[in-house]
Amino acid sequence: MRVLITGYEVAPFFKRGGLGDVMGSLPKALNKIDVDCRVVVPYYVEIQEKVNGKKIGEFHILFGDKEEEIGIYESKLPGSDCIIYFLSNKSVLSYINLRGRNKTIDQFAFFSLAVVRFISWLNVNKKWNVDLIHCNDWHTALIPSILKNKVRIFIPTLLTIHNLSYQGFGSRKVLDLLRMRDEETREIKRDVPAKEIDILGEGILHATRVSTVSPSYAAEIMKEEHWHREIYAYLRKRERILKNDGNIIGILNGIDYDVWNPEKDDNLFKKYNVSDEEIGKEVAKEALLKLFSLKPGPTLCFIGRMATHKGIEILIKAVKMIVQQNANMIFLGSGNPNIERSVKRIAQQYPDNVRAETNYNEELSHKLYAGSDFIIIPSHFEPCGLIQMIAMRYGTLPIASNTGGLKDSIINGKNGFLFENGKSLRLKKTIEHALNKMKDKERFRKMVECAMKTDFSWDKSAVLYKKLYEDMIGQLKRKALTG
Ligand code: ADP
Repeated sequence: MRVLITGYEVAPFFKRGGLGDVMGSLPKALNKIDVDCRVVVPYYVEIQEKVNGKKIGEFHILFGDKEEEIGIYESKLPGSDCIIYFLSNKSVLSYINLRGRNKTIDQFAFFSLAVVRFISWLNVNKKWNVDLIHCNDWHTALIPSILKNKVRIFIPTLLTIHNLSYQGFGSRKVLDLLRMRDEETREIKRDVPAKEIDILGEGILHATRVSTVSPSYAAEIMKEEHWHREIYAYLRKRERILKNDGNIIGILNGIDYDVWNPEKDDNLFKKYNVSDEEIGKEVAKEALLKLFSLKPGPTLCFIGRMATHKGIEILIKAVKMIVQQNANMIFLGSGNPNIERSVKRIAQQYPDNVRAETNYNEELSHKLYAGSDFIIIPSHFEPCGLIQMIAMRYGTLPIASNTGGLKDSIINGKNGFLFENGKSLRLKKTIEHALNKMKDKERFRKMVECAMKTDFSWDKSAVLYKKLYEDMIGQLKRKALTG
């Protein structure tokens, strides 16, 4: 079974969030269970600086009126035999274009078309025949429609939604660039000639199957009152048209145990495992507090993108109470400038206990996972969330909203703490409760041990993906046989 996985980011070459982690680790886990899985991403300059890919060919695509050349480069995911392809084009694929939403959707429409042409190139040049394409998030969500409606290649497509907050919303003119007729991408406003396109919505309608990254999030997004009401119509329409295949499947993400492993992590001041975590974490914490010039005391952290849905305002309201408990709070994250400013302000307000690093710092994130006692995850919704899994692997207990993937990976009172979603008062109470638990050293150590032993490897979930792929490929074959 040959599966091509695509998305806009891939760790460790180019990572902005959890999707990058998944793109860099799921393919390796699939390869281990005999799925011939390869990856294709844009060859951004940032990746070119890190990876000297071998050029294996080139092809051309027509985008708007322009013929564009695409270079194909090949390398491997670090520490594996998993092949990764990079598609290069100087003017469109060198940088992530964050200025202007239409520019970004045009850029990824271009990349999606390039991926489809690349599949044909692999086939024609007898390199590899793709049995299934696994698209991730809105950036690659036009692929199912391009395959079906433009080039008429019938390969099953799985679209995995990692976050409904980002849908690729913009001008329908992107379809002119793809040379696709409007009616070829029918969308929800059936009778209204829509000016705008919701690319994720298109993917939801056209993909053979749609999945998301935890069972709870899969159920939550099918509720009308969910945060993303605008996508609800697409989800319901899919369900109505496709019946059983219209269901959204929830498969919990795993983490890369080669990358996130306190026993082998070179970023740590001292390596440790579950048998010597007490001393390991003590050393890690001491060094972390020294690095930030903080006094000894319980230490809480926040790691993540500073986006509205991460619920940072709920945590900011709890900082005064954290300080009153003589605990430290360290923020690491970047994103929305207003949220960054609020976090910096709170750090200035409590200079003895609070620190804020508003940048992206991979090395520091490892030190924080190891040196903190708790990680706070106050998300309003969380499709899966990897930070709670990583933190637990490093013996740091999550205090998290009871939602989505957080709910599916944390057992309240056993390997972490859950509080009622969106409620600052509940968060304060739960932090108080967790800090009290810490005083009972033996029971606290038991929780830490339980967290470190919880299995967040890809082993189970990779098998679920494999089964889903087999099911989709089998279904297509049966359809072909019955005409
Ligand atoms: P999301 O996908 O919504 O960004 P996840 O919890 O799934 O959230 O994954 C976040 C990933 O990004 C984790 O690997 C986390 O360590 C990393 N990360 C987020 N912000 C930063 C940052 N400022 N510095 C370093 N790593 C970060």
